[in-house]
Amino acid sequence: MTRRLLILGGTGEAVLLARHLTRRPDLDVISSLAGRVANPALPVGAVRVGGFGGVDGLVAYLKQRIDAVIDTTHPFAARMSFNAAEACRHVQVPLLGFVRPAWQPVPGDRWLSVADMAGAAALCQGRVFLTVGRQELAPFAGCDAWFLIRSIDPPGGALPPRHALLLARGPFETTAEIELLRANAIDLVVSKNSGGPATYAKIAAARALELPVVMVERPARPATDEARSLDEVDAWLDRPHHTP
Ligand code: NAP
Repeated sequence: MTRRLLILGGTGEAVLLARHLTRRPDLDVISSLAGRVANPALPVGAVRVGGFGGVDGLVAYLKQRIDAVIDTTHPFAARMSFNAAEACRHVQVPLLGFVRPAWQPVPGDRWLSVADMAGAAALCQGRVFLTVGRQELAPFAGCDAWFLIRSIDPPGGALPPRHALLLARGPFETTAEIELLRANAIDLVVSKNSGGPATYAKIAAARALELPVVMVERPARPATDEARSLDEVDAWLDRPHHTP
């Protein structure tokens, strides 16, 4: 009998995971996207789009016979991860977190680690390359610094008074990132500690140019089983106590 697996996605890893797991004949895979991005990279297999309606909505969805959930949301999508943990606990559906490791500083990096966007905004001065996503810009609206803001879709809401907007989607190359930082005379890079290769080039570029990086560290995640590789995901799925 096939098991129905829900992948909570919105990341490159979720796309890779769906491609990998749809090859397994024992699984029916459904990927879920929040619907934030206008033209998302769609995973193979079945896809549903939009919020579930909080924990209660997710509980109702899981009860329609979802047998296991893998949370491959972005490390900063903490609300979805906590909702998933609570809903899965409620309906006793096994939950696995598949999380990319955080970036670690290497020699030459000049990181200023902060806990949140308000902490990052407090450190902004000069000409700043701001790459924290279009939904997290409000704390920067009161800053005097000049910003080059890069996001996938255009931001709404309050923006800093002095800025230029660059719409682009990764992955990015280090050489092009160095050129971008140079061309805009950037003094400071602000980034989430997203981890993964797709957006690391700006960190490497800042290191090459000896620029400081204000690194917003990750929010807490719920305590769940965790996998770091596709093999570990397969092993978790094959564990007998995860069969319904
Ligand atoms: P969030 O704050 O943790 O979640 C807010 C709400 O969005 C959730 O309560 C849920 O709505 C809905 N949601 C989030 N992920 C969902 C999914 N995979 N499927 C269905 N509904 C989902 O999330 P966020 O930071 O806004 O991120 C939204 C999406 O963008 C996530 O899928 C994430 O993987 C992706 N993403 C986020 C970032 C980032 O920096 N935050 C970066 C890249 C990609 P309901 O309560 O109605 O269920």
